[in-house]
Amino acid sequence: MKWALIGASTIAAQYMIPAFRAQKGEIVRVVSGSADRAKSYAAEHGIPASGTDLDEALADSSVDAVYISTTNEKHLDQAMAAIGAGKHVLCEKPLAMSLEDAASMVRAAEEAGLVFATNHHLRCSGSHRAVRQLIEDGRIGKILSMRIFHAVHLPPHLQGWRITDPGAGGGVIPDITVHNADVARFILGEDPQAVVAQMVSSGMGQGVEDSAMSVWAMPSGAMVMSHESFTHRFAGNGFEVHGTEGSIFARNVMSQDPLGEVELVTEVGSEAIEFSRHDLYGQGVSQFIDAVEGRGPLAASGWDGVKSLAVAFAVREAARTGTKQTVDYGAAA
Ligand code: NDP
Repeated sequence: MKWALIGASTIAAQYMIPAFRAQKGEIVRVVSGSADRAKSYAAEHGIPASGTDLDEALADSSVDAVYISTTNEKHLDQAMAAIGAGKHVLCEKPLAMSLEDAASMVRAAEEAGLVFATNHHLRCSGSHRAVRQLIEDGRIGKILSMRIFHAVHLPPHLQGWRITDPGAGGGVIPDITVHNADVARFILGEDPQAVVAQMVSSGMGQGVEDSAMSVWAMPSGAMVMSHESFTHRFAGNGFEVHGTEGSIFARNVMSQDPLGEVELVTEVGSEAIEFSRHDLYGQGVSQFIDAVEGRGPLAASGWDGVKSLAVAFAVREAARTGTKQTVDYGAAA
């Protein structure tokens, strides 16, 4: 598959360029807002063509698919242009700045017969898939609750628009709550119904929240507690799922890398659960290619991206107003 990168980003450099190449993909172009940046990024990563003209890149008939990893306010226009040019789209989370915009991208791709995926990498992890399998196999009985702890320390090189620019989609809720929402939906197989929440700007965020805590009510009656932050140096990360017959502890698994441990605790004792240590992003790209070639499902669809965004918006509104919010999934309902 031949890819054009829209956005000369950190995530593309660190994870996605290697993932595309590991899946036998060719990166033929990179588009950036700056010609100099595009050129140096292309040289650094061995990409043959670069520029600032999105239409020119999309007119390249050799390009099968685009990967959009610009700042969040740019995703909508770039995705719509790519879909208009007949390209499949792998788009970064959060998909857009509003639920309606996100749904319009997904719907446009559907109407054009194109594949549109959301880059929710965590559900591609062997650890998360192993936990889901344990639950599907009934190993912990009826689910009572889930706790997601995803309070990290944003590394200095990412302390830009995420902590200063609401217009670019900054804030920990669009950045990390969307991931937690996708993880809860994937692990529990149901969509949060209503949320209560608090958020703060505790020193790092300038005009945007840098920490949030929320509790979500699930249709089954289970509760989910979600904690996300940019400011916690030593908190570690992971999630726990508690059921009537057992508990699952997944530690250090809210990661970009195939790290961590999964432990199952039941009345017979504690069991370390083995899981595949494959590359998370490579798995997502592999399933994207399968979907384009009609061989299998996406890891995370466009509608999954719309739903995770709906939960994040509900969390922010609940925190802003101090009221319980019903999650409005809009067209994804
Ligand atoms: P970056 O800040 O690295 O990149 C975003 C944009 O900022 C780029 O498209 C680029 O614009 C510009 N930019 C990047 N570096 C520089 C620089 N040194 N000087 C000037 N401009 C620069 O963001 P991330 O890679 O962290 O995030 C990009 C998107 O990916 C976001 O939507 C984010 O939410 C998502 N993301 C997803 C992850 C996942 O695991 N699914 C993980 C991390 C991010 P231009 O293209 O115009 O050059």
